[in-house]
Amino acid sequence: MNGKVNEIFQSIQGEGPWAGVRQVFVRLYDCNLDCVWCDTPKAKKTGGKHFTELTADDVYVQVMELWENCHTVSLTGGEPLKQVEFLRELLPRFRQANMPTYLDTNGVLYKELADVIKYLDFIAMDIKLPSSAQIPEHWQEHEEFLRTAATAGADKVFVKSVVSSKTTLADINQAAEIIARVNVDILLILQPNSQEKDKGVIVKCQEFQNHCLNLLSQVRVLPQWHKVMDIR
Ligand code: SF4
Repeated sequence: MNGKVNEIFQSIQGEGPWAGVRQVFVRLYDCNLDCVWCDTPKAKKTGGKHFTELTADDVYVQVMELWENCHTVSLTGGEPLKQVEFLRELLPRFRQANMPTYLDTNGVLYKELADVIKYLDFIAMDIKLPSSAQIPEHWQEHEEFLRTAATAGADKVFVKSVVSSKTTLADINQAAEIIARVNVDILLILQPNSQEKDKGVIVKCQEFQNHCLNLLSQVRVLPQWHKVMDIR
């Protein structure tokens, strides 16, 4: 089958505990959410038909051409799990070639995750806070997703949430409680919205960090480095 691929490129991971490593990014088209500050609008249907139809072999060949000195293949989007049937064909090729994989996901499509988790080495999962992303809540799906992701090992998954000037303590608390119910040692990263630095979001992140550390063992405040460095 063909996958709908928005772009394939090499760059530096900008988020989380693996920030700074070199990756080949495979950005898949389409998303199941509609966050107000989406930074990849071209990977969404509302942004137009920005994709090329490629087979798993086509994608594998293009990734291999960019692979030198890379740490992982990042499957990103959009929401990569929207094309889980394509991932089922693509991911085993990377596993066979000993190329570790890194899934960057909005953390909602838990049944699709269960389908491919055996091929994943790292899972970077968002918990979308309704007050930040301005979308309906997905708490139950996020919890199911995290439970599934944690079966890969608590050190293989981390959670990230963007904190904006609109983010509420109630939402952050809900996210921390979800993580605590699954495993208190899963890392939570609070990411201040880069467009609102002058609106007190960094201080807000520090206050939220203090609160979450009452529930979790690891909570960090980190920027989205790709936005600081202005790279893809
Ligand atoms: S989940 Fe990601 S790709 Fe989808 S709308 Fe939100 S920010 Fe955009």
